[in-house]
Amino acid sequence: MGPAGDSDRSPGNPPLYTDAKPMRTFALFASIAIAVPAVLCAQSSAKTASENSPKMTTKLTPEQVQRSAIVIDTHADTPQRFVDENFDLNDPLGDGNFNLESARKGNLGAEFFSIWVDPGPNKGQFARRTLVLIDAVRQQAARHSDKVMFVTTPGGIELAHREHKLAVLMGIEGGHSIEDSLALLRQYYSLGVRYMTLTWANSNGWADSSGDINDISIPHTKEGLSEFGKDVVYEMNRLGMMVDISHVSDRTFFRTLVITRAPVIASHSAARALCDAPRNMTDDMLRAVANSGGPNSKGGVVQVNFYSGFISQQYRDAQKAIQPAVEKAVQALRDKYKSEGKDAPQAEIDKLRRQFADRIPRPPLSMLIDHIDHIAKVAGVDHVGLGSDFDGVSGQLPRGIDSPADLPKITAALMERGYSAEDCRKILGGNLLRVFREVEQVAKGLQAENRPRITDKQPFDKPQKQ
Ligand SMILES: [Zn+2]
Repeated sequence: MGPAGDSDRSPGNPPLYTDAKPMRTFALFASIAIAVPAVLCAQSSAKTASENSPKMTTKLTPEQVQRSAIVIDTHADTPQRFVDENFDLNDPLGDGNFNLESARKGNLGAEFFSIWVDPGPNKGQFARRTLVLIDAVRQQAARHSDKVMFVTTPGGIELAHREHKLAVLMGIEGGHSIEDSLALLRQYYSLGVRYMTLTWANSNGWADSSGDINDISIPHTKEGLSEFGKDVVYEMNRLGMMVDISHVSDRTFFRTLVITRAPVIASHSAARALCDAPRNMTDDMLRAVANSGGPNSKGGVVQVNFYSGFISQQYRDAQKAIQPAVEKAVQALRDKYKSEGKDAPQAEIDKLRRQFADRIPRPPLSMLIDHIDHIAKVAGVDHVGLGSDFDGVSGQLPRGIDSPADLPKITAALMERGYSAEDCRKILGGNLLRVFREVEQVAKGLQAENRPRITDKQPFDKPQKQ
């Protein structure tokens, strides 16, 4: 998500290149990586497709590769539609990007539905809205149990695949959902939530967001995570909930990577080297994700966001250029309603914004592939995957990509660039499965340690002061 946070809020922010204060290890790593890219850094041995393997010249067609893969998408905002529009997974797509038919056509194996609570309108009831969204996903899964399977483990994803069903999972987008309570975090885990994005576009008191890091009216942590924020990351590691660093500020990113015991994911993030959005990831960050986790970790994964405003600099610049006109039109709409003594409905404001956005030409699919390719080269082909942001970006997607039914086009484009069948399967879902499995293993280890827990100060759940 979403139209507000991912697109509308970011264009005004300057890039954050100078804001990052990476830990020394990462700075050192970065300089080594520049000097001797593929030799010293096994995990970031960003193999290009052409040097990767001769066996890639196998005769498998893109279609066959797509069919033989467990395809996993880690970010779709469809739950908003379930709740607000009474949308059913069997319904036609309408204005949206996701339904069961399109998932089946694209051979999608697993979808992580995003539990995103818009902080503005839900102030004071984050947990309530979180639970309503979780319930909506579970209701949908129950209603369509002939076609989907609600699962919470990597094994569950594989089981659903064998039974030719779509695996349905959940991730929370924005740490404000836990309302400063590890008890709530644990309960969300028990309801099936398997990743949490530490922040959305809003900082939450214990972790900072790239969406407001330059806004001095908003309180931020000193080091990227407060003491409580470190407890949250530890507790996620201990539970086996994937730590998602999409949306966070650069400093929060590096602080999290220093303390996490498990590899991290970026559920829906693109590359800043190709498109200068504050919430895209620098090459150093890409390498750091590849090296995240403990010493024996196989590293994390960056799931590429499809949003046009994150993959195309040209699109982004065009957005900035029309921004004043958009704001003027929105204000005019608000004024019109105000003169009638009413508030302008959010749906109408969104529709208006979308009308403007639709005037900007959609970027070609090749630009999305450029991001996948860039991350594969910088971080390694074991560290990249797909995080579409379907239903979260007002349809502002590359040309030809409108729903999961179009995912095979990505496989075809990757193979055209020389990616082997094996590499494609990793990108399509294998990498995410590997990380998910490792997160489970780390959790088992931490639970077995049985050491005094930093969470012992719970259950009082006092909001932590900075
Ligand atoms: Zn998002």
